[in-house]
Amino acid sequence: MVRVRFAPSPSGSLHVGGALTAVANRRFADEHGGTFLVRIDDTDPERSEIASEEAILNDLAWLGIKPDEPPIRQSARGDLYRQAADSLAERGLLTEDAGALRATTAWRPTLIRADGSATYHLASVVDDGELGITHVIRGRDHLSSTDLHVELARGLEYDIPEYVHHGLLVNADGKKLSKRDGATSVSALRDGGIPAEAVRAYLEELSVPKHDVQLDLSRLERLSIDAIAALEDADLVGRVGVSLRLAPALRGARTLKEGRAFADQIEAVPGRRELAEAEHVAIQRLIDLRERAPEQLDRDTAKALLREVKAVGGNLRTVREVLTGERRGPELWTVLYALDRDEMLSRLEQGLRP
Ligand code: GLU
Repeated sequence: MVRVRFAPSPSGSLHVGGALTAVANRRFADEHGGTFLVRIDDTDPERSEIASEEAILNDLAWLGIKPDEPPIRQSARGDLYRQAADSLAERGLLTEDAGALRATTAWRPTLIRADGSATYHLASVVDDGELGITHVIRGRDHLSSTDLHVELARGLEYDIPEYVHHGLLVNADGKKLSKRDGATSVSALRDGGIPAEAVRAYLEELSVPKHDVQLDLSRLERLSIDAIAALEDADLVGRVGVSLRLAPALRGARTLKEGRAFADQIEAVPGRRELAEAEHVAIQRLIDLRERAPEQLDRDTAKALLREVKAVGGNLRTVREVLTGERRGPELWTVLYALDRDEMLSRLEQGLRP
């Protein structure tokens, strides 16, 4: 029976690189009808924050990654680690050094600190053993710990899990992503308006990379466009926090954030745009047509009105500027569709006022 785990250290928010590991583990469990666990590696009290733990669990949930059992916290399992240290000591696999206990291997890494707390290496091996982890899937930055982990697991008579180390997500210089590289945390992508489905799809696409891969923000944006296109109207407007009438206007947005900006353009009453004499005819024509049309336009009528404006030589950019105060934005017919009659007329008439 496959059992895998994602074991974040709660010392910051969930990074896309960490999310890649989480997604790879979740998928592996699903493909094998196995169990996926989340383990909070909070053995280092100075670097562990409860807020970070909550943020990580929240980001995982946002990505649709659910653990099959409640998360486990290493800080609650100290006794287990000390027992394990005792049995390693009985076997002569530990040596004492200034109050700390170190493994008797070439590096002599610390397993138990002088204050009696376990370090990541021991805690991780004990937990993987006790939790019956069959496959450890993690970033290749942990490759160098693996010999030690196998040795400790042998010493503790645990079944040795299979270790799989995936390539890391890196920046354009091939370096591990850091804060300096911009939106590289899951929450930053969310704040940037990338839907969860797009982030998840991107990470699924990367799968378990053998080599390091450069984070491809343009690919993420492409997937964001696809994800937005696949959302039902009600879901889309719900995520942006606007009414259903704005759904068509949101359709051309590349991110939910851009969708929000499109909605803002329509919802905010624009400043007055002085019209040149030659522009009056088209705007007056639109006023006449809009007065006669129903309170709310249907899609075809909204498009038809714009055709009429063009037919009298009107410039659609002028219409956009009068209605939104902007030169670019959502498809123009969607602006007409979103505005009710009074609001649209008041913006148009404002344009004509001397
Ligand atoms: N807490 C470690 C990390 O966040 C986990 C490493 C492992 O998967 O064993 O990198």
